Amino acid sequence: MCIATAPNCILQTAPDSFLPTAPKVLIVGAGIVGAAIAYFLARAGAQVTLLDAKAPAAGASGASDGAVSVASKRPGPMMALACEARSLYRQWAEQGILSDIYHSRPTYLFARTDEEVAVIAHQGSDLMALGERILPLTHAELMQRVPGLGRHVLAGMKVPDDGHALGYRVVDRLLQVSGAQVLRHTPVQRLALSDGRVVGVVTAQGPLVADVVVVAAGLGSGALVGLQDILMPRKGQLIVTDRASLSGAALPGPLMSAGYLAAKRRMVLGHSSTSLVIDPLATGQFLIGSSRETGFEDRQTDIQTVSTLLREALAVYPALARQRVIRTFAGIRIGTRDGLPIVGPHPTLPGLFIATGMEGDGICLAPVIGAAVADMVLQARARFDISVLNPGRFGDLPLQQTH
Ligand SMILES: Cc1cc2nc3c(=O)[nH]c(=O)nc-3n(C[C@H](O)[C@H](O)[C@H](O)COP(=O)(O)OP(=O)(O)OC[C@H]3O[C@@H](n4cnc5c(N)ncnc54)[C@H](O)[C@@H]3O)c2cc1C
Repeated sequence: MCIATAPNCILQTAPDSFLPTAPKVLIVGAGIVGAAIAYFLARAGAQVTLLDAKAPAAGASGASDGAVSVASKRPGPMMALACEARSLYRQWAEQGILSDIYHSRPTYLFARTDEEVAVIAHQGSDLMALGERILPLTHAELMQRVPGLGRHVLAGMKVPDDGHALGYRVVDRLLQVSGAQVLRHTPVQRLALSDGRVVGVVTAQGPLVADVVVVAAGLGSGALVGLQDILMPRKGQLIVTDRASLSGAALPGPLMSAGYLAAKRRMVLGHSSTSLVIDPLATGQFLIGSSRETGFEDRQTDIQTVSTLLREALAVYPALARQRVIRTFAGIRIGTRDGLPIVGPHPTLPGLFIATGMEGDGICLAPVIGAAVADMVLQARARFDISVLNPGRFGDLPLQQTH
């Protein structure tokens, strides 16, 4: 059981103006973050319109894995928020909203060197401190639970209570359930300002007015809200195999390398260690990934990176040699300078909220971000304390746009 992140009764933003009972809210970006915000706002009675430059889940949310994982998170606010988010996913599954999309499953962390064994032990202590169940495993115990593992794997840890949900399916369902209006192929060119307040957005089709604007546009948020120098793209390449099983997932849970944890903890290990995850999908296929290529925005895959990932994956789980590769693809994570998402009111522009920079954790965190942003927009009691993600930590965020 996780310890809650202080869902206390504070207002996260001082009410800056009178809001009508059913405020008109424009959300820029129909990825998983925009969709989750739309869901909570619509449920509370707001009139919600999402605008997307392309289509729902056209960005990272449609080109990712779907680990709803506390096991993998950096200790501190990210781990605590992931714990809350996973609880919301469970509730959505129990309520029938995501019963066919979210499922619980364990995560298996594995180590190939003594240094990696230490990384996993640290992660285990941090997880336990949060109240998470963990089960340290020797090589023999891992082999018993995951037959077919390679002999280079020294030890590992089972984290039983994680889950999985494919991002594009969650987006689709949340938009459907929210009943929000979605405007496709409608890139927002800039914000509309009046008397120092954001009063809407400008699109190629003309201006749209609103009581509140929320920018949840991934990398596209940069230019709109003054975050160009703070957001950074990080490409991830993924490989999909054919089915290893015709009756559900071929392994009880994903195999996640200590290198992946080290990347999240911003540690550099002594030997080159790929941040590898071998994810058994419910279809019986494997999803193998992924690279972390900072500064790359293109969605191409390349032979060098794909072959490195496959070589590492085969060493960890030689049984993969029986599979065919049927597809490769890449998505772009959006990181931030300090490694934390940016969520909350714009520091100087009333009427504007930001929710971006989720990097590799947005599928997992989306429900908690959605609820927290809805509370801020509606000036309601905060269910979650996300003050550590406040955009104001980067200063005034001056806009580079003309009005
Ligand atoms: C390879 C890979 C693996 C991943 N695996 C996981 C995982 O296992 N678990 C996990 O939790 N997370 C994972 N992630 C991270 C996750 O996918 C992202 O954090 C999440 O999808 C971000 O969602 P978002 O809504 O912020 O952005 P996006 O999904 O990128 O949505 C932004 C939307 O804004 C639109 N847009 C941009 N600019 C404009 C504009 N000017 N006007 C209108 N619309 C605009 C775009 O078209 C896009 O649809 C992974 C990511 C990658 C790349």
